[in-house]
Amino acid sequence: MKKVLITGAAGFLGSHLCDRFIKEGFHVVGMDNLITGDLKNIEHLFGLSQFEFYHHDVTKFVHVPGKLDYILHFASPASPIDYLKIPIQTLKVGALGTHNLLGLAMEKGSRILIASTSEIYGDPLVHPQTEDYYGNVNTIGPRGVYDEAKRFQESITMAYHRFHGLDTRIVRIFNTYGPRMRLNDGRVIPAFMGQALRGEDLTVFGDGSQTRSFCYVDDEVEGIYRLLMSDYTDPVNIGNPHEITIKQFAEEIIKLTGTDQKIIYKPLPQDDPMQRRPDISRAKEILGWEPVVGREEGMKRTFDYFKTLSKEELVKTEH
Ligand code: NAD
Ligand code: UDP
Repeated sequence: MKKVLITGAAGFLGSHLCDRFIKEGFHVVGMDNLITGDLKNIEHLFGLSQFEFYHHDVTKFVHVPGKLDYILHFASPASPIDYLKIPIQTLKVGALGTHNLLGLAMEKGSRILIASTSEIYGDPLVHPQTEDYYGNVNTIGPRGVYDEAKRFQESITMAYHRFHGLDTRIVRIFNTYGPRMRLNDGRVIPAFMGQALRGEDLTVFGDGSQTRSFCYVDDEVEGIYRLLMSDYTDPVNIGNPHEITIKQFAEEIIKLTGTDQKIIYKPLPQDDPMQRRPDISRAKEILGWEPVVGREEGMKRTFDYFKTLSKEELVKTEH
């Protein structure tokens, strides 16, 4: 049986990856320090003999007994609110955490895939974003802690690949959504859905003309799985190219949720990217991948998930 280590396993994407690898017949070792994750996301796996979990901070030395065929490094705060609140941990998990996991991959002879992000393009001046665009990042701005941690993560991964011949993969993930997002993590989809469910007005930041392109989690996981199994070692964008302004998006959510609430406007956070859309030509060509779940269907599935949350979970806010 092939064995895979998934860091960030109790988070949104990590937990869906655990499910996918269990389904593919792997032995899955999940690792997480629960700083932004929740054991609830993986509690359904705890009875399985193919699953084990380590409560561990990957910025500290990482040890896993036995062989490891694959490592997926997904541990990192991922929402702007989280990484602004824990900036040093964010830098450390991208830098020290990645270094530890690359070392583990060397020791075990594992293939390692690291979770990079569209944020490495910063507030992009090239649109849509192709993998050969170097980006436009404010290194000392508040978001810089995440962007630069991820840029360093890519650089050290390529250095291990070139210098040590390590078998590496880099996925650049664009805004992904779906069940198990934390309702109060501040990202726009849980924020709007939580507001709709609580009967609050939807808070659009800025004038809402900034754009994003949202990818449903099942599509994202499929792209990541195919990249890991491919022999391609340069970064690959995995995201959904259907772009929408945040204001239009708020209107769509009002329609979907049937709420009577209206849109209110709040200041745009510093360095909030004005436009974002992946160019996925590389993923199409190399992996034969493109997203198949449309926004209407994906949003409906996500809203169905948020509707199952208890009243206490709905009112708990962090900002
Ligand atoms: P998440 O916050 O739901 O999950 C991250 C997980 O990592 C959490 O369970 C957290 O507890 C864990 N973690 C953080 N620091 C850790 C540490 N030092 N040691 C061990 N565990 C630690 O976020 P997510 O959306 O699932 O994101 C997962 C990964 O994907 C991140 O690396 C993120 O940068 C990347 N990513 C996500 C998106 C997206 O849209 N969801 C977009 C781009 C990149
Ligand atoms: N946003 C918003 N209202 C909210 C939360 C976010 O208008 O309550 C905006 C945010 O300013 C950004 C977009 O939605 O322009 C996406 O934000 P998110 O935090 O989901 O992701 P990211 O900025 O990392 O793409």
